Amino acid sequence: MPGGKPAGVVCVNLDPVTYECRIWGAPDYPEVCRAFTATAELCGRSRAQALDRLSDLERRTRP
Ligand code: SF4
Repeated sequence: MPGGKPAGVVCVNLDPVTYECRIWGAPDYPEVCRAFTATAELCGRSRAQALDRLSDLERRTRP
């Protein structure tokens, strides 16, 4: 996303139906996404747990 993805905003590249990345593996796939490794500790056991944890991280790292 131009200027980076603001906290609390869904990435424009995320398909809202399948929750898959539309640009995975493409030349413009962001380096930050390429470097990310999903873990059970971060992602939990469900989409709801992952969203809760991401929201918490966004709150705690807000500038
Ligand atoms: S992997 Fe990166 S580019 Fe793809 S949807 Fe997620 S945040 Fe967006």
